[in-house]
Amino acid sequence: MALIVQKYGGTSVGNPERIKNVAQRVARFKAQGHQVVVVLSAMSGETNRLIDLAKTIQSHPDPRELDVMVSTGEQVTIALLSMALMEMGLKAKSYTGAQVRIVTDDAHTKARILSIDEENLRRDLNAGYVAVVAGFQGVDEKGNITTLGRGGSDTTGVALAAALKADECQIYTDVDGVYTTDPRIVPEARKLKTITFEEMLEMASLGSKVLQIRSVEFAGKYKVKLRVLSSFEEEGEGTLITFEEDAMEQPIISGIAFNRDEAKITVLGVPDRPGIAYAILGPVADANIDVDMIIQNVGADGTTTDFTFTVNRSEYAKAIAILRDVQNTIGAREIKGDDKIVKVSLVGVGMRSHSGIASTMFKTLAAEGINLQMISTSEIKISVVIDEKYLELAVRVLHKAFNLEQAA
Ligand code: ASP
Ligand code: MG
Repeated sequence: MALIVQKYGGTSVGNPERIKNVAQRVARFKAQGHQVVVVLSAMSGETNRLIDLAKTIQSHPDPRELDVMVSTGEQVTIALLSMALMEMGLKAKSYTGAQVRIVTDDAHTKARILSIDEENLRRDLNAGYVAVVAGFQGVDEKGNITTLGRGGSDTTGVALAAALKADECQIYTDVDGVYTTDPRIVPEARKLKTITFEEMLEMASLGSKVLQIRSVEFAGKYKVKLRVLSSFEEEGEGTLITFEEDAMEQPIISGIAFNRDEAKITVLGVPDRPGIAYAILGPVADANIDVDMIIQNVGADGTTTDFTFTVNRSEYAKAIAILRDVQNTIGAREIKGDDKIVKVSLVGVGMRSHSGIASTMFKTLAAEGINLQMISTSEIKISVVIDEKYLELAVRVLHKAFNLEQAA
């Protein structure tokens, strides 16, 4: 007997028929003698619908009220699945985040989980119930409803698996695993049997939207065995997220990730002096805007320098406005931006032991006449920022150049 946490995404519970399918899968695991905790997303499209609805009243919805509202999507699916399980003769009970007691901080719309009281769930599991938990939501210490950021149900699933010391956390989605890149762009993209946590983290943060990044961090930290599977297939091993030390021979490159939600901001002609990076990025951080790539060059004249960084496209306008506000204080000549850019990254733990990856990447992109606007590297990834119109071409030629269609 194992304790399994199964998380189903929005498309897997998108209509009553699919919810019944989920119930059948859960029933199969129960019949094998396992204890099952199910974590659900809202029906696909529902969270977007609720956010749009809120915006018809308030163009920038109050975060506390928005959380009260968007958390309802998951309450609908947990009740429906519990009913479907009961119809099949199983014992089932739904739980909101507050009913479990998933306690988060008070950062509405992007709250972090602080603690989980797993006692209620444990008691019900031992009594033979399937526990069906609303993903994406929690409560802060004062009892306010919070949500964990878009895609947050993954994090709920992993966090519950960690708290319950589950044997496996299975993420059921509309793809059957993690691919070398998005098959909609590269039809030859190949499903990976395994990927390491570190690589998955890069793939997730770089925009392969298979798993919410925070859920991968969580799984890595608490050593949760995590598997991505399709909810539309009966069989299949999906992709197992492994720890590098457990992995067998690794390919040099595991995949190509990309992110379309990027924008770049350049602060031109700032004085080249200690504290300037802080003067520029401090106000941006204070506004809770995450900064990704950062590049600072030595200015040609030796007294001033240019400073470029990327932010999420949705926060571009806000970041520009903040910088225009402080432009005079920091002594910048000009503030420029471009929100028509994308980031493309090669990811692979094998880069640690192989050289020449970057030059192959740059040569491949150069052959297509693609200009690299920014470059950044880490031990296991190389990222470039390019004009958004070249995204698909870049991903395709890189996939081919690194032979990713062939199993390593
Ligand atoms: N329903 C939420 C969203 O659409 C959370 C999730 O699905 O993971 O972002
Ligand atoms: Mg999701």
